[in-house]
Amino acid sequence: MALINDHFLKLPANYLFADIAKKVNIFRVTHPNSDIISLGIGDVTQPLCPVVVEALQRAAAEMGTADGFHGYGPEQGYDFLREAILKNDFLPRGIHLDIDEIFVSDGAKTDTGNIQELIRWDNSIGVTDPIYPVYIDSNVMIGRAGVQQQGRWSNVIYLPCTAENNFIPRLPDRRVDVIYLCYPNNPTGTVVTKQELRKWVNYALKNDAIIFFDAAYQAFITAPDIPHSIYEIRGARKCAIEFHSYSKTAGFTGVRCGYTVVPKDLTAATLTGERIPLNPLWLRRQSTKFNGASYLSQRAAEAIYTPEGRLQVQQTIDYYMHNAHRLLDGLRGMGYEVYGGENAPYLWMKTPRGTTSWQFFEEMLYGANVVCTPGVGFGPSGEGYVRLTAFGTHEHTEEALDRLQRWTFNR
Ligand SMILES: *Cc1c(COP(=O)(O)O)cnc(C)c1O
Repeated sequence: MALINDHFLKLPANYLFADIAKKVNIFRVTHPNSDIISLGIGDVTQPLCPVVVEALQRAAAEMGTADGFHGYGPEQGYDFLREAILKNDFLPRGIHLDIDEIFVSDGAKTDTGNIQELIRWDNSIGVTDPIYPVYIDSNVMIGRAGVQQQGRWSNVIYLPCTAENNFIPRLPDRRVDVIYLCYPNNPTGTVVTKQELRKWVNYALKNDAIIFFDAAYQAFITAPDIPHSIYEIRGARKCAIEFHSYSKTAGFTGVRCGYTVVPKDLTAATLTGERIPLNPLWLRRQSTKFNGASYLSQRAAEAIYTPEGRLQVQQTIDYYMHNAHRLLDGLRGMGYEVYGGENAPYLWMKTPRGTTSWQFFEEMLYGANVVCTPGVGFGPSGEGYVRLTAFGTHEHTEEALDRLQRWTFNR
């Protein structure tokens, strides 16, 4: 008899965005003449920039020739892209990485979900709360998270990030073997300074812990003292793995490309105390289970590092950040308590008068015909907040602000 991996059964049956879609559908059916604007979308909306389209077309044409055909590529990515990554994402920040420390992939969701295979099932994990659900769910699937009770997993250490602590998680008061950090943060849109991140690196070094650092939104940082990479902090090479994605940076959500940095100095212990470097383990894992990102998407990613590419990508980021600033100013002007939106495409809004996330979601949907994402869907500390995104068009963002203004003042 084939027995299933019953850890999958522990996962909550309904995914946050499915619940939202259901509620939005009910509204649509009962209000057929209302049109809805979504500030809940977690996907980009602007088209690929011209250099990326040209690179894709060039690569496709090349693949149609005998000389230019590319079959299986190196599992860890083509050198042309890995060299561009080293030269553009790290060297200018004083970070020297070896090309073998870069692993190109089809995106950061894949890698943040798979990376936990490198550590034993009985390691303890810590997450900032609220959080990108992939980190916990991927640990649930192999049984590391324990059982869920009242929205919390028994073997997960939650590090609350709320307005009360200015969204800066306190260092855990007990041993944590692995910590997931994501900055700029999804869902709160908040960031950490170098000084704050240094505390985490020092914690990890002192406690022999590993940090999984998700830098998917680093391209949205505008403030000067905010780290774009954890390797800007001394000692991070010994304790951190970092994930990058072209999805939000360059609209690659449908193209699929990202990369992960596994430094050679990073080791973890066996039960007998032997130190094993994780870099060759990840290489082994990837070469066994992954056949590389496509040649086309890697050529497309390479193109964003050209001078024109950088300019074009920045224009799209500026487009979204214009929305973020408009939302931040507009909502604060209406009297709401809003965070994020300055170095990230997300805004995190406190619901007024202690309304729950889901109740406020429904009130906004029915009152203003605007969709947000209930904060509690990202973890227990998200209760009492909603997430708004800046990934819409300028027109929709302005229209949403008008509606929210009317709704707020007529309530
Ligand atoms: C969108 C997002 C990613 C990117 O995932 P891809 O698989 O590269 O599209 C990674 N981490 C977080 C926190 C995200 O929000």
